Amino acid sequence: MRYVDEFRDANLARTLSTQIAAVAEPGRHYKVMEVCGGHTHTIYKHGIEDHLPETIELVHGPGCPVCVIPMGRVDDGISIARRPGVIFTCFGDMMRVPGGDGSLLDAKAQGADVRFVYSPLDALKVARLNPEREVVFYAIGFETTAPSTALTLMRAKAEGLTNFSVMCNHVTIVPPLKALLESPDLRLDAFIGPGHVSTVIGCRPYEFIPADYGQPVVVAGFEPLDLLQAVYMIMLQLAEGRSEIENQYGRVVPWEGNLRALEVLQEVFELRPYFEWRGLGFISQSALKLSDAYRDFDAELRFDVPGVRVADPKACQCGEVLKGVIKPWECKVFGTACTPETPIGTCMVSSEGACAAYYNFGRFARSTARAGS
Ligand code: SF4
Repeated sequence: MRYVDEFRDANLARTLSTQIAAVAEPGRHYKVMEVCGGHTHTIYKHGIEDHLPETIELVHGPGCPVCVIPMGRVDDGISIARRPGVIFTCFGDMMRVPGGDGSLLDAKAQGADVRFVYSPLDALKVARLNPEREVVFYAIGFETTAPSTALTLMRAKAEGLTNFSVMCNHVTIVPPLKALLESPDLRLDAFIGPGHVSTVIGCRPYEFIPADYGQPVVVAGFEPLDLLQAVYMIMLQLAEGRSEIENQYGRVVPWEGNLRALEVLQEVFELRPYFEWRGLGFISQSALKLSDAYRDFDAELRFDVPGVRVADPKACQCGEVLKGVIKPWECKVFGTACTPETPIGTCMVSSEGACAAYYNFGRFARSTARAGS
């Protein structure tokens, strides 16, 4: 498949849908987790669940980078942004994530110089243009976006820029998957592996899932037919009693990953001993910080952030949504107090968040109807 039309061919979708139904064991309930927020977005945008038998339940995972940022880290960012002379840069979604003390957008409205950028290189450009100001980039994302932060830091170092630093919130995908597999709350049958992250780390890091937990993983792309084909590959594995890693997204994901990107990550970052994930708590070795060679660019060392832990609001059930324990529409404030315009939790902010995907594509009405039927 090379063109978008081929990825959305209705006849092929119907064929796959029939094949999936044919291999599903009657009476068995299947729970398949899509790890990546991009997959969640495609699933609800294109109504993928409507093409699956009701016995196959797609469960949303923790792979939306904005959704997993805890409130305390937002507050730490705001404390830097409020310092005189600082220009604080971040991605647009991040500005709306609520912390314990409002959002970065609120801080901007109150006078802090917070600017959204499309890439870390844009933040570097701001630093070059404002040599008398301190420019901080709030870095978020999994291994997908970490290489671009790393390359930006390498460039800043090569140029000898002294007014640029990074508050690093990059996280890694494997530790939360391990935490989910160990969670007593959740019984899963298989995983749709994250396509974007796997372009960097490849497929090997998931080997422990079939080896230790006996569950199939199929790394998938982001078009509707990619996801249907991935579900079919998973169902075939389950029907044949296999548990393996398969790569449906071979046109983009190399089995061994992107070796140059992995080298760059190795040079610029090191693992944190532990990191707090929204709703999942502290997970050991699950996030990155700047390596010693780049410590001069570490905003947390340069500005001495408070590092306070902030509990989520009582009404917020993002943790359960991120673990796949509840569906977004089961949260008590979904669509009432919590909407994309007035988010209480992070899952309603980014378009990759499960709650925003449900809300924006109106799928919750269908899910509610199904549950009530
Ligand atoms: S509806 Fe809002 S508070 Fe509830 S889980 Fe979703 S984002 Fe979190």
